[in-house]
Amino acid sequence: MKEFFTNNDEETMEFAEKLGELLQPNQVVTLDGDLGAGKTTFTKGLAKGLGVERTVNSPTYTIVKEYRGRMPLYHMDVYRLEDSEEDIGFDEYFSGEGITVIEWSDYIRTYLPERYLKIQMKKISADERQILLQPIGEEYEKLIEELQQ
Ligand code: ADP
Ligand code: MG
Repeated sequence: MKEFFTNNDEETMEFAEKLGELLQPNQVVTLDGDLGAGKTTFTKGLAKGLGVERTVNSPTYTIVKEYRGRMPLYHMDVYRLEDSEEDIGFDEYFSGEGITVIEWSDYIRTYLPERYLKIQMKKISADERQILLQPIGEEYEKLIEELQQ
């Protein structure tokens, strides 16, 4: 587990952008943390790192939004699936060439793939955030090492 801190939303986006630049096809990133922790802000930066030019907004009312970058980005917010056990075809997203980012992934724990990068965000103060990165699977350990360089 690696711990990072950011002092404003720009720093979070820059950090996430670096991650977006390093991501490889088929990788999955989960984002958990309270409302306002910065999950969507993080996703905006990640999308930029993937070369997405459109503005990324919270997909709360659609569950999945798709963007085009150097590979597809599937941005999910599964908040509304809490306790519903509904499978919206997660495997198809996880098995494709695209990158999947899942906000509130705890709500779909049973559908998560075997390997993914688990990110927990926590609000420390109005502008400070703690970002915890936990690799689930070896390829994500390497990714975190690259991110630190
Ligand atoms: P979530 O998707 O987790 O509900 P959002 O990214 O939508 O969170 O909202 C985070 C809010 O906190 C935004 O208004 C953002 O500008 C603000 N913010 C302040 N400091 C930070 C920071 N260090 N990192 C990310 N967001 C921050
Ligand atoms: Mg959000």
